[in-house]
Amino acid sequence: MTSDAGVHSYSAVLMGSPILLKLFEDNPTLASQVFRLIKQQENLFTVNRAASEVMAINHAAGRHPVVVSAPVFELISVAHAVSILPDSAFNFTIGPVVKRWKIGFQGREVPPAAEIEALLRLTDPHQVVLDAEQHSVFLPLPGMEIDLGAIAKGYIADVVQAFLRQQGVAQALINLGGNVQTLGSPPHQPQGWGIGLKKPFGRDDELLGTLQVQGKSVVTSGIYERYFERDGRCWHHIFDPHTGYPLDNELLSVTVIADRSLDGDIYTTLLYGMGPEQGLAYLAGQPDIDAVFVTRDRQIICSPARHFRFSQLDFSWQLRH
Ligand code: AMP
Ligand code: MG
Repeated sequence: MTSDAGVHSYSAVLMGSPILLKLFEDNPTLASQVFRLIKQQENLFTVNRAASEVMAINHAAGRHPVVVSAPVFELISVAHAVSILPDSAFNFTIGPVVKRWKIGFQGREVPPAAEIEALLRLTDPHQVVLDAEQHSVFLPLPGMEIDLGAIAKGYIADVVQAFLRQQGVAQALINLGGNVQTLGSPPHQPQGWGIGLKKPFGRDDELLGTLQVQGKSVVTSGIYERYFERDGRCWHHIFDPHTGYPLDNELLSVTVIADRSLDGDIYTTLLYGMGPEQGLAYLAGQPDIDAVFVTRDRQIICSPARHFRFSQLDFSWQLRH
């Protein structure tokens, strides 16, 4: 725990990421309750361990439906709905492709094209059978695998926010490694929380600027988070579900500002697939969602900033509104 100007910060490493909780009271008991809650939630959704509710579904692929708890069924239903949107870059059955590339894990490599082709046949979200009455999920083809890695943190950040609110906390911030959720504003800072926008491939403390938000979530997906370099290319962890290869466009990162961190997490992937121009056009019809696109040609492109303020810190990048 560290304390600075009334802020009490608590940290842990969970879900393979550094987790940070900021409170305005010295309350280590509450902090450990929060970390325990995150751990419990992770145990439901992870696919990086042998056992979880999601792994039970994956293990039963091609054999039988699996009944899961209400929260897992709900999150899978949301993931399914987003995955079957027309032209969606989001696909929650991308698991076999993610596992084969092993990006961020030992043994990563560029798989042979024929293998990717074969695995893509196991990633049709339309084939997943959801039974809302039984709360059961069935993957009809052997080898199909659900991966909720793109949204689990967002969902969990919202669970933490609801828990803190229920505990009577009015001002707090939780950072689940790239997924930030907030309550209120820090005391005496009416402009809100300052959340850093990372310089892609930079050091942790190198920021392009700061986003100011009040009671909002800020979620970033960036290709620099998990990647490897081979043959002069950057192979990263955000896949194009139509090709089975990492999404190859002008983006380095997308940050979404939304009320719910789950929405932020969904939209970062959707907007990643759209790219900045199409993404901005799309956001014009989504008054509750804002985004900041960071591009390879060193531009920071903000959607019409309705729910945040951006203060630029690195002026070697070009800011566009
Ligand atoms: P995020 O950090 O929220 O951008 O999520 C990245 C993670 O989502 C990856 O590590 C994969 O587990 C998963 N993933 C990668 N590509 C996709 C995709 N197109 N649709 C859904 N999940 C994906
Ligand atoms: Mg995401």
